Amino acid sequence: MSRIAYVNGQYVPHASGSVHIEDRGYQFADGVYEVFAVHNGKLIGVKGHMDRLEHSLSALQIDWPMKTGPFMVVVNEVVRRNHVKNGLVYIQVTRGVARRDHAFPADSISSMVITAKKAAPLDKVALSKGIGVITIPDIRWKRKDIKSVSLLPNCLGKQQAREAGAFEAWMVDDEGMVSEGTSSNAWIVTKEGELVTRDISNAILNGITRLAIIEAAKEKGIKITERAFSEQEALDAKEAFISSSTSHVKAVTRINDQPVGNGHVGEMTSHLLDHYVDFIEAKGGPQHTDKWN
Ligand code: PLP
Repeated sequence: MSRIAYVNGQYVPHASGSVHIEDRGYQFADGVYEVFAVHNGKLIGVKGHMDRLEHSLSALQIDWPMKTGPFMVVVNEVVRRNHVKNGLVYIQVTRGVARRDHAFPADSISSMVITAKKAAPLDKVALSKGIGVITIPDIRWKRKDIKSVSLLPNCLGKQQAREAGAFEAWMVDDEGMVSEGTSSNAWIVTKEGELVTRDISNAILNGITRLAIIEAAKEKGIKITERAFSEQEALDAKEAFISSSTSHVKAVTRINDQPVGNGHVGEMTSHLLDHYVDFIEAKGGPQHTDKWN
């Protein structure tokens, strides 16, 4: 079955979907994106993704490409046309096409591309197998709260992780604090049993999965501390995991090739994975999605 993409108002074969050579997304990374998970035929975290997209677009003064009602119709149609029951939807909005000049064009029309792809259904056993992460310096700009398509440092970091035989790289800021993964949020359970993830600011992207875990944990009476944690605390942690729309809640069992705790998925991580899945299946995603930095 061939894939279908939505490109600037048209459904086209994915293989031949294209944008103009002077699209500002292509020339300047002048655009933003979102990735929605599809779980058992349902889009996850719609409210959160829409609110975060609004945050990213308004921070960069990019116009919405269309009203939110029709926008969701198109998103659902791309999912339907690609027969995605479990997988991901990718949405990219750029400032549009204009003669090349750094300053914003006076009259460009936002470009929008939506694609969808199938992925394996969420598999708790696979997520609990445990991955390795490495730590690397965070060399990104100062507005990580914006989900910008400017992902070069993230790509370099992910590549470094792959070359080191790890799944993800945790980026460490100039103060020695872990900001997040190259495409995920970072979590630890400290030696003392404190469940920690970095607090919201311009230093991280506030993940929709992160927010869902926070709400799911609250419902279960599990305390989460939102604060920066150091690279050393991560190395000393009892448990660790990453969260994202693609990775859900994925256990981290090695950091820089050293075992985390006993080197197996932790008890808290397992519980949170269960609570997260129950939560998204019941609620569809986080409800409190008004704070991005
Ligand atoms: N942080 C970064 C840098 C990301 O790229 C992502 C996801 O792509 C996340 C965090 C997690 O966000 P979400 O849970 O919304 O997928």
